[in-house]
Amino acid sequence: MLFGRHTKNPIKIADKDVADWKYTTCGYCSTGCSIEVGLDAEGKAVTARGVADAPVNRGKLCIKGIFEHELFNSANRGKTPLLRERAIDAYREVGWDEALDHTAAEIKRVQEKYGRDSIAIISTGQILTEEFYTLGKLTRGVIGTNNYDGNTTLCMASAVSGYKRSFGSDGPPGCYEDFEHTECLMAFGSNLPEQHPIIYWRLKMALEKRRFPVIVVDPRVTMFAQMADIHLPVTPGTDLVLLNALAHVILKEGLEDRDYIDTHTTGFEEFSALVAHYDPVTAAGICGIDEDTIRHVARLYAKAGAAMSIWTMGINQSTHGSDGVVAINSLNLITGNIGKPGGTSLSITGQCNAMGTREWSSCSGLPGYRALEKEKDRETIANYWGIDPGFFPGRRGPFMTDIFPAMETGQIKALWLIATNPMTSMPNIPRIRKTLQNLEFLVVQDAYADVETTQYAHVYLPAALWGEKEGVFTNTERRVNLVRKVVEPHGDSKPDLWIFNQIAKRFEQGRKIRFPETPAEVFEEMRELSRGRMLDYSGMTHDKIEMQRGIQWPCPENAGSGSPRLYADGVFQHPDAKAKLIPLPFVDNNERPDQQFPFWLNSGRVVEHFHTRTRTGKIGNVNKFSPTPYMEMNPDSAKELGIGHMTYARLISRRGYAVVLVQLTHRVPHNMVFIPFHFHECVNRLTLGLLDPYSRQPAFKQCAVKIEPATDQLAAAAANVAARSY
Ligand code: SF4
Repeated sequence: MLFGRHTKNPIKIADKDVADWKYTTCGYCSTGCSIEVGLDAEGKAVTARGVADAPVNRGKLCIKGIFEHELFNSANRGKTPLLRERAIDAYREVGWDEALDHTAAEIKRVQEKYGRDSIAIISTGQILTEEFYTLGKLTRGVIGTNNYDGNTTLCMASAVSGYKRSFGSDGPPGCYEDFEHTECLMAFGSNLPEQHPIIYWRLKMALEKRRFPVIVVDPRVTMFAQMADIHLPVTPGTDLVLLNALAHVILKEGLEDRDYIDTHTTGFEEFSALVAHYDPVTAAGICGIDEDTIRHVARLYAKAGAAMSIWTMGINQSTHGSDGVVAINSLNLITGNIGKPGGTSLSITGQCNAMGTREWSSCSGLPGYRALEKEKDRETIANYWGIDPGFFPGRRGPFMTDIFPAMETGQIKALWLIATNPMTSMPNIPRIRKTLQNLEFLVVQDAYADVETTQYAHVYLPAALWGEKEGVFTNTERRVNLVRKVVEPHGDSKPDLWIFNQIAKRFEQGRKIRFPETPAEVFEEMRELSRGRMLDYSGMTHDKIEMQRGIQWPCPENAGSGSPRLYADGVFQHPDAKAKLIPLPFVDNNERPDQQFPFWLNSGRVVEHFHTRTRTGKIGNVNKFSPTPYMEMNPDSAKELGIGHMTYARLISRRGYAVVLVQLTHRVPHNMVFIPFHFHECVNRLTLGLLDPYSRQPAFKQCAVKIEPATDQLAAAAANVAARSY
C-alpha cells in the first residue's frame, strides 16, 4: 500500500497478506471500540483495524488497539497449568485435571476447616460478561463465600456507590453522543486524551462542528487541561468543596431548574442548607480555585441549555470519592441536566468490561443489579438457579480493599485471583506482599504466567485472552458489544468460562445447578434475568449485537435497538421514583504534605499502557514509547533539591521508597509530583490508600512524600530497570 508521496520515495506499508478479517471488540479500555483482526492464510493474527461503521469509534483505534493482535503470541503467555505444594518450591507443569482437582480440593479443605467465608475470590473488569455471570453463579450458588469482589473496587466503586445514592441504581445515564448536544462540558479528574483517546476524539469531532466551553478540573496541567477553555487546578482531595461552592452560587443566584428539582428530586431543603455554608470566598481558601472563577464556572454551567459532567479516577480514587460523585450528580439534578441530550452525569469507566462485572458478576449483589439485601431478589435468583435461597448471605460481603486486611489477620486463608495483579495494583505493596505470604492457598488465573502475584501462588491456571473466546463486554455508555473468537487459545490455555464450569463440576452443589457450556447459552440466561429490568437485554442476541456494532441497554424484546440515555422520563430507581439531593459536608481526612513529607504524590495513566503492563509491557510497539518508571517534577522544586532533568531520584513516604527517573515539567505545581501507576515496585510502594467510607475505594491519588537525589545513579538506574519488569 502506498500513501503520501506517490512519486518520490513513497511511504510503503508492508502488505500483511490478510486472508480474512474477524469482528471483535477491543479488550483494553471501556471505550468499547469495535475492531477487526486480520488473519493470514494460516489463521495467524497479523494486523488490526477499527470498524468503519461502528457507532463508538467510526474506524479509529488508539495505539493499544492498533497493536492488540500482537498479544496473542506475546511473551510469557501461560501455556499450561502450574502447581507447587509450597510457595517457595519450584512450579511443575501439570495437566488441567490435576490443577483443577487440586484447586477444588484446597478450597473445600480450607472451607471445612475454617468456614465457608475463609476463601476469598477476587476477579477483574476484563473477562467476558458471560464469564462474570458464571463466576457469580459458582461463587454465590456453589462455593458460597461472601468474600467476593472485583478489582473494579480500585477504579469504579465510587461511581457505582454515587449513582446508587443519587439515583437508586448503578448505571451511567449518558452516552458519547451527548458531546454532540451539550453546551458546556465539565471534566473532573479525567485526562481523556491519554486515558480514553477515542472518547476524546469523539469530543474533538463535536467541538469541530460546534464550539462549546470545556472546563477541566485537575490538580495537574494534563493534556486535557491544556486544550480546555478553563482549567481549574484544584487542591488534591478538595473537589467536594468546589462542587458545593458551585451549587452555592447556582442557588444563591437563582440559576437552578426549580421545576426539575420540585418534580424529580427529594432532599432539596437539607441540600441547600448545607451548600449555603460553601460560599466561594471560604471555598477558595480550601480548594485553591479563586472566588471569581468559581462564580464564572457556576454561571456558565447553569446557564447552558444542556451541560454535562464526565469524570474518572481523579474523583473516584479519594477518601470522599463517593461523595464527589453524588455532588456531581446533584449539580446536574439542580440544573435539570439528567436524561436529556447533552445533559448528563457520565462516569468514564476504566477496564473494558468494568460495566459487565457491575451488572452481572454478583460481586456486590446478585445478577442484573439485584441486591442480596432484598428477599425477593434472593428468591428470584435462587429459584432460577435451583438452589435454596437460604444459601445466599443476607447482605454483600467485604470489598477487595477490606478482604486483604482480613487475609493479613488470618480470617481468610485462601484466595483465588482472576485476571488481577494486586502485587502491582494495590496501595502499600510491602503490606500486600506480607499478606499474600500469609495464605495457605493462593490460585492465580491469568493469561500471563509472569504476573507478579504468581510468585506467591500455589497454582497458576492459564486463561485465554479476549479474542481467543466469545462473549460480550459493556462499555462506558452501556453499549453491549460482541467479542468474537478470532484465534484459538494460546498453548493449552482455556477460556475463563471453561475453567469456572470445570471447578463447578468438582462441587456437589455444582451438579445441582445447571452451568451452560457455551457463551450463547449463558447469554440466554442473562437475557431472561434482565427482562423488564432497567438493564433489559431481552431484545439482544449475539448476532444482532454484532450487526449493530453494539447495543445500549435497556433494549427490551422486540425493540429495534437500544436506548442512548437513562432517566429521560425523570423516573429514578429509588422507591419513590425520585432522585436524592444529598447534603455533603467536607471532612479533610487524608494524608497531606507536611514539613517531613512536603510533596503531594499524584498518579495516573499514560496512553501507551494499560493497568499493570501485563499486556502492554509485552508489546514492543507500545512499550517503547513509555518503557521507564518516571516522575514529573516542577523544575523549581527540583532545583531547590539539586535534582536534574533525566537523573534518578528517590521518593520516600511513610510506607516505603521508590526510585524513578525525573522529568522536569511545569505540568505539575511546585508542591506536587506525578508518577504513572503502571509500573511494578514503583508508585504503590509509596501510596497509603485510605478508603472511601461508602465505596471502599482507595485514595491512590493523594499522599505525601519527600524527595532526594539518588546518590548512586548507577544503582538507581538498576532499580529503575527492575521496576520495568518486562
Ligand atoms: Fe481499545 Fe480503548 Fe484504545 Fe478504543 S480507546 S482502541 S477501546 S484501548
